[in-house]
Amino acid sequence: MDPVNLFVPSFRIEETLAEIRQCLEKGWTGLGYKTVDFEEAWKDYTGLPHAHFVNSATAGLHLAVRLLKEERGWQDGDEIITTPLTFVSTNHAILYESLRPVFADVDDHLCLDPASVESRISDRTRAIMFVGMGGNTGRFQDIVEICGRRGLSLILDAAHMAGTRMNGTHVGPESDVSVFSFQAVKNLPTADSGMVCFRDARLDHAVRKWTWLGIDKDTFSRTHSKGSYKWHYDVVHDGFKYHGNSIMAAMGLVSLRYLEQDNAYRRQIAAWYDERLVEEEKIRRVPVAPGCLSSRHLYQILVDNRDEVILALNESQIYPGVHYRDNTLYQMYRYARGTCPRSMSAGGCIISLPLHLRLTYADVQRVCTSLLDIIRRRVSLSKESDHAEAQHPSD
Ligand SMILES: *Cc1c(COP(=O)(O)O)cnc(C)c1O
Repeated sequence: MDPVNLFVPSFRIEETLAEIRQCLEKGWTGLGYKTVDFEEAWKDYTGLPHAHFVNSATAGLHLAVRLLKEERGWQDGDEIITTPLTFVSTNHAILYESLRPVFADVDDHLCLDPASVESRISDRTRAIMFVGMGGNTGRFQDIVEICGRRGLSLILDAAHMAGTRMNGTHVGPESDVSVFSFQAVKNLPTADSGMVCFRDARLDHAVRKWTWLGIDKDTFSRTHSKGSYKWHYDVVHDGFKYHGNSIMAAMGLVSLRYLEQDNAYRRQIAAWYDERLVEEEKIRRVPVAPGCLSSRHLYQILVDNRDEVILALNESQIYPGVHYRDNTLYQMYRYARGTCPRSMSAGGCIISLPLHLRLTYADVQRVCTSLLDIIRRRVSLSKESDHAEAQHPSD
């Protein structure tokens, strides 16, 4: 039997090679050229006013925090309210800038719970970091409202959300900055890259210097419009080497052409899972929020004895994943352990079932049949042992 894996990226190989070939023939693989085309294409697709192509979403998240901190005069030790149920990039980005991640709990969508967020707001809170888990918007609209009312900035970790729409509009315009990932197993695959999208034109302008070592070509081009003396640029601050390149952008341009169709197939797979799994009450499915057209990066369920269930699935060559363990289980975030009980308990029960474009209807049936067998076998085993105990109470 062939293995059924969690994620397998799909590339349109000939079309992608043709796009990359253009870079090679032109002799231009770095910053500029395809990176500019891809930024334009992403703005067209999402309707967002600004987009800057970076080498990863992790870099984008770092700069999101950094630029807001600088612009809004945040101090070291100021707080950002965030979720413990995420990939570590989200919260590392806060620490990179000497700010403090304050964890709030999650709701049924495995996204931040607005009530818990409000309870964590202090006079040092500056922003909320929201993660759209698996492409879901959860109660993002309520978080937007809280930020407006309490004067907080809003950062959207949209790593899973390429193509997610809320009430018909692509997500992103609600937040001060949204960061997308185009890492190989995300919905819009390259090898590694991402997009940082600021709402404010000035920050979009500024971030371009931060991603390339503080180099400011604008001051030069303003004074030398003929374009000679290219070496006479100014360097305005240190900055980082975070910008994207034309090879990644070439891959992204092709993946973007298929994103709508690919996400529709992901939603089809999710519907097939729903159809079979709805009948088993021991399997709790994570609901998609009303009004959300999810990119369906993940299909998540919660079960008791998660680790056992995954090992049993592995015996049938089915390899699901876990997104995520609660981050406060990690040494470096243990200061907040115990503050988010729902996230902690969900983190112990979550399974992400295989979800990628090569899965067929038959693959999904095979996963469901194995999963239902395992869950029901466990249930009947535990019933038998209850029965045995009842008959032999002294054993
Ligand atoms: C993948 C991921 C990131 C980081 O993306 P990279 O492009 O790999 O840096 C950040 N946040 C979440 C929620 C992710 O899943």
